[in-house]
Amino acid sequence: MIELPEATTIARQINTELIGKQIADGNRGNSPHKFAFYNRSPEEYAAILPGKTIGEASAVGPMILMPVEPGYTVVLGEGGERINHHSSAATLPKKYQLFLHFNDDSYLTVTVQGWGAAFLMDPLEVANHPYIHFDKPSPLSEAFTPDYFLGLFEALKPEEKSSVKFFMISKPGVLGVGNGCLQDILWYAKIHPRRRAVSLSLPERQALYTATRDTLQKMVAGGGRDGDYDLYDHPGSYRRILHSKAVDEPCPDCGAPIQKAAYLGGAIYFCPRCQVEPKDQK
Ligand SMILES: [Zn+2]
Repeated sequence: MIELPEATTIARQINTELIGKQIADGNRGNSPHKFAFYNRSPEEYAAILPGKTIGEASAVGPMILMPVEPGYTVVLGEGGERINHHSSAATLPKKYQLFLHFNDDSYLTVTVQGWGAAFLMDPLEVANHPYIHFDKPSPLSEAFTPDYFLGLFEALKPEEKSSVKFFMISKPGVLGVGNGCLQDILWYAKIHPRRRAVSLSLPERQALYTATRDTLQKMVAGGGRDGDYDLYDHPGSYRRILHSKAVDEPCPDCGAPIQKAAYLGGAIYFCPRCQVEPKDQK
């Protein structure tokens, strides 16, 4: 799934590889997909895309905004989109859910795995898109200060029952952090995902701030995480500590076997010794 590190990496690669290319032909792909989401009909995509030029892409949290100028932006991200450049038709996948053929006979395809989206939006649609959070600071920006982050905790009511997982990925949420990046962030912070957010001590909140910044920085520097793929279909080089294949493997810090549990609509992984599970809640 695309989260901040992958969106940042792919937007950067679009700006190296695709910027300035002109679209000869484009459409919603060759294989309808139940969980591929669009905001226009196939006919509209096919009518709008030809003749447009790729502009400067940007990442807003987990979302990739790729201008197709003039007038539109392709919006991808936060799902299981595989976004790939092809220098010739030889490497085109069999099935794809967005297709751009450039004038120089290179291509961009988006293949949705699980679920994902390939929107084609005008400026008003971009501005009003509920999943593009222009209002939240990127956790790697200067605006994401310790005061800002600690203030999110101060806004919680004392009786608030929500977990630190919910706090980080949903409400208030850290922009671009989903259930993937969250696992290593919490491991570095030594906090169990089920802990109630309000129960974190000040040092724990500070540790979580530092782990969020440091872990995301490492993930971006590595071109994304090792289970996700970039524009060239290469996996990222950030080696995840916690993921499905790490279950029962020793924690790199203390040696205890890594555990897995289902929680809030997604697996959580944790070290039972470094990330102590709260006793008062399950
Ligand atoms: Zn451990």
